[in-house]
Amino acid sequence: MKVERRNLAEFTTLAVGGPSEIWTVESPEDLERATSAPYRVLGNGSNLLVSDRGVPERVIRLGGVYARGSLGRVRDGNEAHLTPWIGAGVLLPALVQEALQAGLSGLEPLLGIPASVGGAVRMNAGTRYGEIADVLEAVEVFHAGLFHVLDPAELGLEYRTSHLPPGAIVTRVRFRLIPASKKDVATLMSRVDAARKGQPKRKSAGCAFKNPPGDAAGRLIDEAGFKGLRAGSAMISHEHGNFIINTGGASAKDVWKLVKHVQEELNLELEWEIWGELP
Ligand SMILES: Cc1cc2nc3c(=O)[nH]c(=O)nc-3n(C[C@H](O)[C@H](O)[C@H](O)COP(=O)(O)OP(=O)(O)OC[C@H]3O[C@@H](n4cnc5c(N)ncnc54)[C@H](O)[C@@H]3O)c2cc1C
Repeated sequence: MKVERRNLAEFTTLAVGGPSEIWTVESPEDLERATSAPYRVLGNGSNLLVSDRGVPERVIRLGGVYARGSLGRVRDGNEAHLTPWIGAGVLLPALVQEALQAGLSGLEPLLGIPASVGGAVRMNAGTRYGEIADVLEAVEVFHAGLFHVLDPAELGLEYRTSHLPPGAIVTRVRFRLIPASKKDVATLMSRVDAARKGQPKRKSAGCAFKNPPGDAAGRLIDEAGFKGLRAGSAMISHEHGNFIINTGGASAKDVWKLVKHVQEELNLELEWEIWGELP
């Protein structure tokens, strides 16, 4: 196990976040040691706004066996393909590409989501084409010193959230996928990809605000004329109003100023999780 003090900015897609103690766990024994004091679990840091002062808790990252795994050999036929156990630290984009190469259908709706498998389960990541809940076969969770293999129905997966108990760590996952032609998988992927056109490619944490019922946060932000608004090096994207981007060296304080401004003016609910104290 590696324990090091690093800036969380190195581990978040928004590239924001101060010094914290990072515990990279590689075995059940590591998990037990790392969880013996207050902790948080870090996936790929793609839904987080982390304080410039970092967090006081241990930050657990999944490494070793928990960051490995592949979809397994596919037999011909139409019956469902149950994948081997895949480490929750594996990144979703890698699995989506593997599924395309292997001719396995089911992960296409998750194309373009920069999550770890564990973070995607915790948030029930998805798009309008489907969500991870649709393809889960079983989920292994480490909680209160024990491993549990859960049926996805026990996770309380709902729209972009789950009811995993606080502190529960998703360690490994099995998927249920369907053998399909590469052409069919590629066709659905290109449809999902097309729906992402117009999303900024620069450093961000995805959509900052939840869509209010029957409306789109991005549209409201655009209509209010907030696109291009800056605080330090943070900016509301010109391409998509619901994206706050780091144009280079932005602090959490900069990002937070924009968040507060939008919230005060438009009363939108934040989508991201906040780690640590913000000014
Ligand atoms: C460019 C961009 C596009 C995006 N598009 C989408 C989209 O289309 N759809 C969508 O749903 N989301 C999208 N997101 C948001 C984000 O990718 C998801 O919320 C994702 O599920 C977060 O996963 P993560 O591994 O990065 O988790 P993190 O951001 O690291 O953590 C998020 C939460 O999950 C918890 N967590 C992480 N790993 C584990 C684990 N192993 N066990 C238990 N808890 C864990 C963390 O403690 C935290 O509470 C996008 C983000 C970006 C930057």
